[in-house]
Amino acid sequence: MHERESYQQELEALRFDNSFTRLLPGDSGEGKQPRQVYGACYSRVAPTKVSQPSLIIHASDLASRLGLSDELCRSDAFSQLFSGNQLLPGMDPHAICYGGHQFGNWAGQLGDGRAINLGELINTNDERWMLQLKGAGLTPYSRSADGLAVLRSSVREFLCSEAMHHLGVPTTRALSLILTGEMVMRDMFYDGRAALEPGAIVCRTAPSFTRFGSLQIFASRDDTTTLKQLLDHTIIHDFPHLGEPCQQVYLEWFNEVCQSTAELVVHWMRVGFVHGVMNTDNMSLLGLTIDYGPYGWLEAFDLSWTPNTTDREFKRYSYGQQPAIAGWNLARLAESILPLIGDIEPLQEALNTYSQNYKTLWQNMMVEKLGLKSFQAETDHKLLEELQHMLTLTETDMTIFYRKLANTNAEVNLENINNNKLIEPLLDAYYQSEDIAYDLQQQMADWLRSYIQRLQQDGVNNTERKENMNRINPKYVLRNYLSQVAIDQAEAGDYNEIHRLHELLKHPYDEQPEFDSYAAKRPDWARNRAGCSMLSCSS
Ligand code: AMP
Ligand code: MG
Repeated sequence: MHERESYQQELEALRFDNSFTRLLPGDSGEGKQPRQVYGACYSRVAPTKVSQPSLIIHASDLASRLGLSDELCRSDAFSQLFSGNQLLPGMDPHAICYGGHQFGNWAGQLGDGRAINLGELINTNDERWMLQLKGAGLTPYSRSADGLAVLRSSVREFLCSEAMHHLGVPTTRALSLILTGEMVMRDMFYDGRAALEPGAIVCRTAPSFTRFGSLQIFASRDDTTTLKQLLDHTIIHDFPHLGEPCQQVYLEWFNEVCQSTAELVVHWMRVGFVHGVMNTDNMSLLGLTIDYGPYGWLEAFDLSWTPNTTDREFKRYSYGQQPAIAGWNLARLAESILPLIGDIEPLQEALNTYSQNYKTLWQNMMVEKLGLKSFQAETDHKLLEELQHMLTLTETDMTIFYRKLANTNAEVNLENINNNKLIEPLLDAYYQSEDIAYDLQQQMADWLRSYIQRLQQDGVNNTERKENMNRINPKYVLRNYLSQVAIDQAEAGDYNEIHRLHELLKHPYDEQPEFDSYAAKRPDWARNRAGCSMLSCSS
């Protein structure tokens, strides 16, 4: 048998069960013209064909979980399929209708403007994985845009979602990154300097891509019937442990969404991830990181840092705002399911619990970052507060700081050690480590003294503590400039850097000394370069 036929056979053996389109109401309209879609959760729409699909990279471990071999992923049949050129018999391509609050304002219907769900793959372990192409062409939800994605943003989505997965942060995943062969016009900084960029498609996967905005759209239209259908469907398929949907179950479900959202944001804070566009249409009901756009990674610790140029003025989506914005978004979700619950009180209670819960989870995470056994209110409120202050005394690289902090020797006699010696292990984390002012050194040393005293209370030995800390504080994150370097090379036809980053980010907590330079501070040239510290929504 020809190789080509055997790959095709392997693909055709994949099992699909398209519960979303089979069980939920669809759009009665046809075609791709932009329109308002009422009383329907999705519109059937086929991906637009592309001229020359070619694979740049795929995620082997995810592919094998889905039942796809590496050889198959490198075949032409795979590129044809995951660029949308050829579909499999069991697929049922569709775009989902949703709405959302963008930057705090209700924006009405948005929907999958360039994402097309191919179908729900059921793997051999009976897991359900929706396969979605991002950048697959126009849908009824494209509004005035083109339905496409460029290489730059697709590299960012592929690498970051995979990096997040390996960091242990809940996220949608990326199966493949494929060049389409087409060029796409983009005005990257909305300043009239539009240019052609290579087009690309990422196939991403998740148990489902439903968002807060998926429910909001029906509530906003007083369409309680479709609202209930979608919520019931979500509970039955994504939260089966909650049992038969009913009022009580709706509440339990909402509490679970609050819980998983709190856990998600705590992870973001832990690794220094800033989503950049936490609009309600970009919030997953499953508590996954979703829609990688103008996200960024904290380099210098700064609660007010936002990577998104559109957000520069109000900093709504800055690092330190993320927990509060997630709470605001949950409140919008609560409002949208209110018609099914009828009583605002228990929803309000759940939102209060979110805030409390977030705080506790955050404290527990922070003391783990510091290598402490558990949060002790008498000492640790102050310790954490002073830490946040200490991190802003001089430009301090958050990722490096915690890795270096793990080297702290808690077995010293604090009376016999001077400030310089105390600070020394941390110097690598400072962008200007040369001449830190005397009073700042004093403040750093004061904090380190309290920290060491606190460690001494716990009595964990240095080695064990370091191991614990290095399991929660990554050495390698997708520093903003690292993806930009990979993008620059990819745009020139060289994909090695994408592969290298993908590999090393599979083990973010390991030392990997051969990749040390990837764990270093951002170089000075990247400080103010587009793509390295400033990103727009253009993608
Ligand atoms: P975002 O906040 O970037 O996730 O996107 C907001 C909305 O704009 C979503 O409905 C997207 O589907 C849509 N959108 C973004 N880029 C495009 C594009 N190039 N073509 C069509 N729709 C888009
Ligand atoms: Mg989005």
